[in-house]
Amino acid sequence: ATYTHKFDTPVYKADVTIKTGLFIGNKWVDPVEGKTIEVINPATGKVITSVSIGTSQDVDLAVKAAEEAYKTSWGLRCSGRERGKLLYKLAELMDRDIAELAALESLDVGKVFSATKDGEIPAAISTFRYYAGWADKVQGKTIETTDAKFTYTRHEPFGVVGQIIPWNFPLFMLSWKLGPALATGNTIVLKPSELTPLSALKLTDLIIEAGFPPGVVNIVNGYGPEVGQAISEHPRIRKVAFTGSTLVGRKILKASSETNLKVVTLELGGKSPSIVFDDADLDKTVRWVSYGIFGNMGQACTAGSRIFIQEGIFDAFVEKFVAATEHLSNNIGDPFHNGTLHGPQVSQLQFDRVMGYIESGKSEGAKVLLGGERHGNEGFFIKPTIITDVHLDMKVTREEIFGPVCTLIKFKTEEEVIEKGNDTEYGLAAHIFTENLNRAIRVSNAVEAGSAWVNIAQITDTAVPFGGYKNSGIGRELGEYALSTYTQVKGVHINIGP
Ligand code: NAD
Repeated sequence: ATYTHKFDTPVYKADVTIKTGLFIGNKWVDPVEGKTIEVINPATGKVITSVSIGTSQDVDLAVKAAEEAYKTSWGLRCSGRERGKLLYKLAELMDRDIAELAALESLDVGKVFSATKDGEIPAAISTFRYYAGWADKVQGKTIETTDAKFTYTRHEPFGVVGQIIPWNFPLFMLSWKLGPALATGNTIVLKPSELTPLSALKLTDLIIEAGFPPGVVNIVNGYGPEVGQAISEHPRIRKVAFTGSTLVGRKILKASSETNLKVVTLELGGKSPSIVFDDADLDKTVRWVSYGIFGNMGQACTAGSRIFIQEGIFDAFVEKFVAATEHLSNNIGDPFHNGTLHGPQVSQLQFDRVMGYIESGKSEGAKVLLGGERHGNEGFFIKPTIITDVHLDMKVTREEIFGPVCTLIKFKTEEEVIEKGNDTEYGLAAHIFTENLNRAIRVSNAVEAGSAWVNIAQITDTAVPFGGYKNSGIGRELGEYALSTYTQVKGVHINIGP
């Protein structure tokens, strides 16, 4: 089946058609059990369309298609140069259709259209292009041992790789997964989030147009406990890469340990600090701290949700930060309107969760300085929210809220803020604001986090590794580092002596 969405908005007008089936072996097929799911527009709460969802039986079919492709037309049967060519081609086609991809993403997630069109989708495209470049540069080593031996390593793909991604950056997260996995010669069974399947479905058209052989990429929409679980338990999937919550990450690891010990990489949640020192450049810092928590409506794993401010700059920072947040609040609304800066949360469930955290903060004695309430009367909009008068044991300062809610905390010394910043089981990112170079380096070294951003927030780069310390994950994505998570190393020993 297909669905055509008529975009008739101030910033985008076009009819965009997607296939709604499961994508297995380069065909759009109906799921074995014929089930569908309604896709909701978070800006209105209304149904956009329905798409197919699978079960473990469909995962099985997808694995078969991926295995067949691995043996016949991908993996070691297809040179890196050829794989790179296809990845470049895919990037080109995405460039051509960038507005369509961005529009679907904004519709499905509630993201501001200009942000997807000029930011996120281009970043997804760069990721494909970057890994296209790596595809013919995956190299082993020759290793000197003795005269009687010739020894070397090979970096070989796993075969069929399972990938499970979240709803907050659907196509961007998909590019982080597909890029390195395809470049290194694996074939894929990927499950998008059941909440946001549309952009991945659009991409399937481009995967075919680019010329990928059937079965190299298979996309099975569905619920986590069904399709996701089936992927993580599948005996012939040898590696699974997951992005999502720490709770589900544990389930993936457990499923692996109880089945075939597939290699698991996890990108999980966070409760990252933004640390503002007295000597920070105030205006620049306010802009980045604001983006760091309110960007993507706070639905970012690296969100700087605990904002630590040194006492000397506290009042000045709060005044400007409140003004910046009011400006955002005054521009909440339809993601497809000119000038909108802030959209809705992704779903009713997320809306309820975030409001629940705000209520919990209040009941534990914190003060809502700004926001804290719904915007409008349809869709899942929450006003950007600033919470003060918190202590570090409250739920709002310890748990990942995944919404536009931050807590402000005053500190005195560098030593103190390092200790408080690290006082969390998460370790995804830290944002540090200071004009003092020595301090910037000292604090970046001291934070227990996979990414340290100085005088900037949350801007990843395709070439730079990304991932979590502590409960925020296992393994690294992006950069050259990601290649090693999609290959296994073989040591070859050849006796050239007696
Ligand atoms: P989630 O864990 O609920 O879902 C993520 C994916 O896992 C979805 O596709 C879901 O269907 C699937 N899933 C759910 N239950 C499953 C199960 N039992 N077995 C297998 N798969 C299952 O997370 P979410 O709500 O989609 O995303 C929000 C979370 O993702 C946040 O915690 C956020 O921090 C995290 N996240 C992390 C990163 C990162 O790179 N570290 C990036 C984006 C989001």
